[in-house]
Amino acid sequence: MQSLFNCVVYQHDPILLVWAVLSLVIGSVVTMRLFTRAQDTNKQIQTLWLILAGMIGGGTIWSTHFVSMLAYKSDIILGYELTLTVSSLIIVICTTMLGFAIAIRKANTLRIVTGGAILGVGISLMHYTGMAAMKIQGGMQWDVASVIVSFVLGTVTGGLSVSITARRLTKYFSALGAALFVAAVALMHFTGMNGLTLVPAQLDAEAVKLISNATLGAGIVVLMGCLYLTTFITSLIDMKNADETSAHYKYLALHDQLTGIPNRYGCEKHLKDLISAPLQDGTGIAVVGIDLDRFKRINDVYGHFAGDHLLKTISFHISNILGEGELIGRFGGDEFLALKTGIRGKDDANEFAERILTAIRQPVLWNDADISTRASIGYSLFPWDSLDPIKLMENADLAMYHAKSNGKDSVVGYGIAMNRANKERTTLGMLLASAIENNELSVHYQLQNDAQTRKITGVEALARWHSSAKGHVAPDVFIPIAEETGFINELGAWVLREACSQAAQWTVPVKVAVNVSAKQLADPGFPDQVKQVLEDTGLAPSRLELEVTETGIISVASLALNVIRKLKELGVQIAMDDYGTGYSTLATLHNFPFDKIKIDREFIKDIDTNAHSSAILKSTMILGNSLKIPVLAEGVETEEHLNVLNKEGCQLVQGFLFGKPMANAVLVDLLAAQIEAGLWEEQIPRKDNKNMAIRLVS
Ligand code: C2E
Ligand code: CA
Ligand code: CA
Repeated sequence: MQSLFNCVVYQHDPILLVWAVLSLVIGSVVTMRLFTRAQDTNKQIQTLWLILAGMIGGGTIWSTHFVSMLAYKSDIILGYELTLTVSSLIIVICTTMLGFAIAIRKANTLRIVTGGAILGVGISLMHYTGMAAMKIQGGMQWDVASVIVSFVLGTVTGGLSVSITARRLTKYFSALGAALFVAAVALMHFTGMNGLTLVPAQLDAEAVKLISNATLGAGIVVLMGCLYLTTFITSLIDMKNADETSAHYKYLALHDQLTGIPNRYGCEKHLKDLISAPLQDGTGIAVVGIDLDRFKRINDVYGHFAGDHLLKTISFHISNILGEGELIGRFGGDEFLALKTGIRGKDDANEFAERILTAIRQPVLWNDADISTRASIGYSLFPWDSLDPIKLMENADLAMYHAKSNGKDSVVGYGIAMNRANKERTTLGMLLASAIENNELSVHYQLQNDAQTRKITGVEALARWHSSAKGHVAPDVFIPIAEETGFINELGAWVLREACSQAAQWTVPVKVAVNVSAKQLADPGFPDQVKQVLEDTGLAPSRLELEVTETGIISVASLALNVIRKLKELGVQIAMDDYGTGYSTLATLHNFPFDKIKIDREFIKDIDTNAHSSAILKSTMILGNSLKIPVLAEGVETEEHLNVLNKEGCQLVQGFLFGKPMANAVLVDLLAAQIEAGLWEEQIPRKDNKNMAIRLVS
């Protein structure tokens, strides 16, 4: 140890030694950085980084050795032989490169250890080749033990430096790896040199051209200068590439692939940025929610490519009408979000939203077909409606759903008037719109019985909605919402088909009554729809009864009469529902060809105590008798109710006394039990009515 210390301190020139140490430390840090960069990059440019790491690493080892040799105080050193000097450089660059190339896989320990050892061996090979290049006036005597120790130290420490860097074993792997690299080169070099004794002797100078100390020093500076310059330029290019790549990814993250406009995150980020910037001159921001009407239908009818084309074209049309401070983004699906700064109030926001609506309405062609659509638009205003970006978007959405329920193709601004109840209704309306596809709807059946014999005459189909988000929702709540949003037509059509197809499977020919809303009745295509359902399900028309309300008929009087006539031509029966709650009742009954009158349950609940209710019942019975239309009383809950009704001659009843509305499976079991009990008699199926398998025992 003492002799090693003496060797370093007394046998070397301190200034050149500082140069050697500095270039070693800097070189080691750069080398290890290049190596980890090579590990982290993709295969294509990995080789480039490995070559650079090998050149800087090898160059560092080599230059450290020769600068140390320049520092070595000896009068008998003549110079360095060119071929061996250059060979030592090539050897160490190759071994370093090879070592790194083998050790590059982070998870493969064997490869890392092997690679590290090769790098370590490379240091020793370089050292002794370099020593062989040195020509002196005399001879060299090597202490074998020192040579072996230097070799082992170089290999082990070099191997360790690569292992720690390659596997990133500690948080400080880069510093530790570089430090071990420094140690490997220094320990190897000085242990080796410590075992060397130069013996002066008068030799005949060979005629070999030697490199002088000055030339060697200059060569080292030029070589290392070139290597560092190359590394510097490469790193600059790399950083620029990394910036471009990150900018590209940032763009992708914030933009919609299909339309090229900002996506949900882009919109949200933009809105947040706008809100966090100080407000100028008291103006605000309009947050506009846009939902295309009928987009799903276009997708279904014309295919997804047409849908994509529509979305792209609409984005393009809207982008074209945007001015300064205005932005459009796609939130996903057929939902868009637009922003406008510099808003002074509702008028500005309205103008902006209407402008967007006009852009959306523009014709869009797909294979010569016009697939243009409309939109429902809602907006909310910062800072008036809310200061919170998320709230603003929610409020814009809420206003947009209002626009949808108002018959679509319109603009609605968020207002305080949209209170909680409204919000709840809007939410329900939104959920209801997807209740069919989510399988949340079902049909329950309530018995209708003969008031005297109590036998089943028919059932009424009643819609049930079990929302996955809201649980069971009562028909009194969701039917009016469906009527408001226009969903009632779809819902009614679904109930009709479901009820008819289930009724067609029943083993007894019980009639089924289905409720029909005013909107359905106003649709001239409704009779054809009923005809189609009967054909598809195989239900005999005589087994279907449609319940229409008086208010429903009055609101669409002229249309309804026509529709009802067509329905009757099909062989379907029509019942007047909720009788007594309307006003021009008599006139309605005279004008429309009904098959049944259903007195509203309102008048039955206190029939035995309330004179007014009793009067309604009596007058209805007179009317029914004179028109020869049977009367059914709804809401029959007690025996007292039934007694009064029987006394007044009411033929049919429906109510909790006979049963609450029940699921199809429960009804099927009940009918089976009645067959068992002999209440229905077997009947041979007739060709014209395949459902008429069993007939009620009279
Ligand atoms: P509605 O047509 O008058 O139907 C009869 C309602 O009275 C049912 O309420 C039934 O459960 C209830 N009810 C039956 N017996 C009694 C009783 O003894 N006491 C009392 N208090 N109530 C009784 P539900 O099922 O809640 O339906 C409410 C309304 O929703 C229906 O009144 C009908 O107007 C509407 N609705 C139900 N399903 C449909 C449908 O598929 N289409 C249309 N357009 N409307 C439907
Ligand atoms: Ca009804
Ligand atoms: Ca009713």
